[in-house]
Amino acid sequence: MSELLTSPHVTMQVLDRFGIRARKRYGQNFLIDASVIDRAVLASGIGKEDTVLEIGPGIGTMTQILSLAAGKVVAVEIDEGLKEVLAYTLDACENVTILWQDILKTDLQAVKRDYAGGRKMKVVANLPYYITTPILLALLKEKDCFESITVMVQKEVAQRMCACQDDKEYGALSLAVRYYSEPEVVANAAPHCFIPRPSVDSTVLCLHVRENPPVEADEQHLFAVIRAAFNQRRKTVANALAHGMPGVARQDVEEALVSMELPSDIRGEKLSLSQFAALSEKLRTRSGE
Ligand code: SAM
Repeated sequence: MSELLTSPHVTMQVLDRFGIRARKRYGQNFLIDASVIDRAVLASGIGKEDTVLEIGPGIGTMTQILSLAAGKVVAVEIDEGLKEVLAYTLDACENVTILWQDILKTDLQAVKRDYAGGRKMKVVANLPYYITTPILLALLKEKDCFESITVMVQKEVAQRMCACQDDKEYGALSLAVRYYSEPEVVANAAPHCFIPRPSVDSTVLCLHVRENPPVEADEQHLFAVIRAAFNQRRKTVANALAHGMPGVARQDVEEALVSMELPSDIRGEKLSLSQFAALSEKLRTRSGE
């Protein structure tokens, strides 16, 4: 197919021709706005030397543009009902490989090895909103697979991802994003940029993946502390950790906080990443882990 799907008219024709109705259970909202895709591609700095991992190509709207910009595109799609339409819309895109599987069950290290020759990839995706957080956490966990992660997410999720200490959206996701990357807001997209129109606004973020974390701490322990602190959001950190972390006593947490010159009844949303790291290390060394 020589035309681009970024024209609403062409997208409607293709959906009609293949009898496709967007499936809600897979979070399908197809992009029809060229400028949003162009800005995502520009922010991710894709060139012919890059392998791009796209999550959820849908009917191939972004994939067509990624194929022109990148050396290779590997697209992971769960909905096998899109096989026929993608064969049509991507027939001219020889550098695209589609893996018909669930991204949450995909071995990302194997994709890097088998499709990117062991080199880091760049992610570009309009994510299915019903599983945004699990996908982001899975990508960040395998951060050595990626140079950057450029994703369209629901605007509220973008605000949580970019939130700083004291913001009302600040939480475990904000801290994970900061630990692994430096986030940049690339573009906003209103509902009319999609067919069908979602009921929420969207934002494209580019996460520039860090080579090394910005704080020194045992990663597993740090995230156990962060999760416990935000699981019980309305409790003080001392109470939340005593409740959520086996072997941690409230008094130990209070003493650690006071030794950091912080109030013993402070709440999680007041602690920065470096303060969480310091607290985590104090508790870890105290418990002899
Ligand atoms: N990239 C297309 C676009 O921008 O027009 C479609 C984006 S749509 C918001 C999300 C896509 O992710 C759909 O194609 C959907 O089928 C796919 N998807 C949903 N859950 C998935 C999963 N667990 N693994 C892989 N793809 C998934």
